[in-house]
Amino acid sequence: MKQGVDFDIIVIGGGIVGLSSAYKIMLNHQHIRIAVLEKEERLAAHQTGHNSGVIHSGLYYKPGSAKAKTCTKGRKELIAFAEEHKIPYEICGKIIVATAEKELDGLEKIFYNGRENGIEGLEKIRPDEIKEIEPYSTGIAGLRVPCTGIIDFVKVAEKLGQLIEEGGVGNKIFTSYEVTGFDKHDFYTRVVTNRGTFDARYVINCAGLQCDRIAKMDGVEPEIRIIPFRGDYYELTEQAGSKVKNLIYPVPNPDFPFLGVHFTRMIDGSVECGPNAVFSFKREGYGKTDFSLIDSWESLSFRGTWKLFFRNWKYGLSEYTRAFSKKLFLRQLQRLIPSLGAGDIRPGTAGVRAQAVGLNGAPLDDFVIERRGNSIHVLNAPSPAATASLAIGDHINQLATEYFELK
Ligand SMILES: Cc1cc2nc3c(=O)[nH]c(=O)nc-3n(C[C@H](O)[C@H](O)[C@H](O)COP(=O)(O)OP(=O)(O)OC[C@H]3O[C@@H](n4cnc5c(N)ncnc54)[C@H](O)[C@@H]3O)c2cc1C
Repeated sequence: MKQGVDFDIIVIGGGIVGLSSAYKIMLNHQHIRIAVLEKEERLAAHQTGHNSGVIHSGLYYKPGSAKAKTCTKGRKELIAFAEEHKIPYEICGKIIVATAEKELDGLEKIFYNGRENGIEGLEKIRPDEIKEIEPYSTGIAGLRVPCTGIIDFVKVAEKLGQLIEEGGVGNKIFTSYEVTGFDKHDFYTRVVTNRGTFDARYVINCAGLQCDRIAKMDGVEPEIRIIPFRGDYYELTEQAGSKVKNLIYPVPNPDFPFLGVHFTRMIDGSVECGPNAVFSFKREGYGKTDFSLIDSWESLSFRGTWKLFFRNWKYGLSEYTRAFSKKLFLRQLQRLIPSLGAGDIRPGTAGVRAQAVGLNGAPLDDFVIERRGNSIHVLNAPSPAATASLAIGDHINQLATEYFELK
C-alpha cells in the first residue's frame, strides 16, 4: 500500500491501547506499514505503567456497554496472550466486601449486573465465608469473583511493542518522539514531532491523558475534556503483607467511575492499598503538589469541571483531605481490614487517570472513539481499558478497516 508516505498508519501513544491497536491492525493487514510514536523514552510510561495491575472480570459495567463487552472478551484474550508469551499472571480471584447496611443495595446491584455480564463463578458470600477467604477482613456481606486476576501491564505493553516491530513490513516504534502538530493534506497527514516529521495516510490517536489535545490539533473540537484524577497508593509493609491474601474491594460509590480504595496483591508479591481519586493540577503529575499552569487552566476553564465540582464537592473535599492525611487514608482501609495499624502501611506509588468529562459535568462512563477524516481518536479509555486492550484493539482494527478501506 505504501506509496510516497513514510507509513500507512501512525498510532500516537505507546500505552497499552495504542500498542494493542497497532498489533491488531498488523495481524489483520500484514502488508500495511505502521509506526507508533511515543513521547516518553519508554513504552507504558503513564496510565499503563501506573495502574493496579488487575485483570478485571467485567462485573461492574452496564450490560451491553462497550466496557462490559470488551472487558470480558479482552480479559480472556489477555490471558491467552500472557500464556502464549510467558508473561506472569495469576487468576487469584477477588472479594467485594460490604461493611454497612447502606451498601447492601449496591452490592446486590453489582451481583445482578455481573450475572447479566456472564461473569463466571460469581457468588454471594456470608461474613464467615469472607473470613475464610481473607482472614483479616470483616464485612456483613460480600461477593466472590473468582475470575479476577493480576498481571504486570508494562510487560504486556513491551511484548506488544516487540511483536509489532518483528511482524509486518517495516513497522517501527519510535520512543522520545512527541507529536506537536499536524499538517493536513488531501491524501496524507504530515505528523510533526519534536524530532522531525512523518507522512502517513492515516492517524490513530491513543494519547491517553493528552488525547483531547491531539484531537484538537487535528481540528476536532471534542465536547469533552480530559480531567486528570490522581490516585495515590500506600503499600503494606512486609510484616503486614500476610493480612491480604489476594484482592479485597469495597462496594463502590455508584456516582463515580472509580472503584474505591482496595487492597491488591501485585504480581511481584507486594500489596498495594488504593487508589483514591483526587483532582490533579497536572495531567502527568504523580506528586501530591505537582502543578502545571496550562493543565490547570485547561481543566478549570472548562464548564464541565465546575459542574462536576459543585455536584460532588463533599466527595472531592474528603478525597482531598485523605490524600494529605495518612490517618484518614488508614481509616478508609480499616473499613475492610479493621486490625490494620499506621505502622502497617507506607506511602507507595501514584497514577493519574485520564477521565473524560462532558460539558454537563458528568464523567463519561464508557469508552469513546471518534472518527475525523483520515483519523481515529480514542477520547476516553479509562479502567478497565488495560484489561480490555486487546478487544479494544480489535474494535479499532474494525473501524480502521472500514473507515480507511484497508485491504
Ligand atoms: C491509578 C490507575 C489504576 C488503574 N487500574 C487498572 C486496573 O487495575 N486494571 C485495568 O484494566 N485498568 C486500570 N486502569 C486503567 C488503565 O491503566 C488505562 O485505562 C489504560 O492504561 C489506558 O491506556 P492508554 O494506552 O489509553 O493510555 P496511556 O497508558 O496513558 O498511554 C498513552 C500514551 O500516549 C503518550 N502520548 C501522549 N501524548 C503524546 C504525544 N503528543 N506524542 C506521542 N505520545 C504521546 C503518553 O506518553 C502515553 O505513553 C487504571 C488506571 C489508573 C490511572
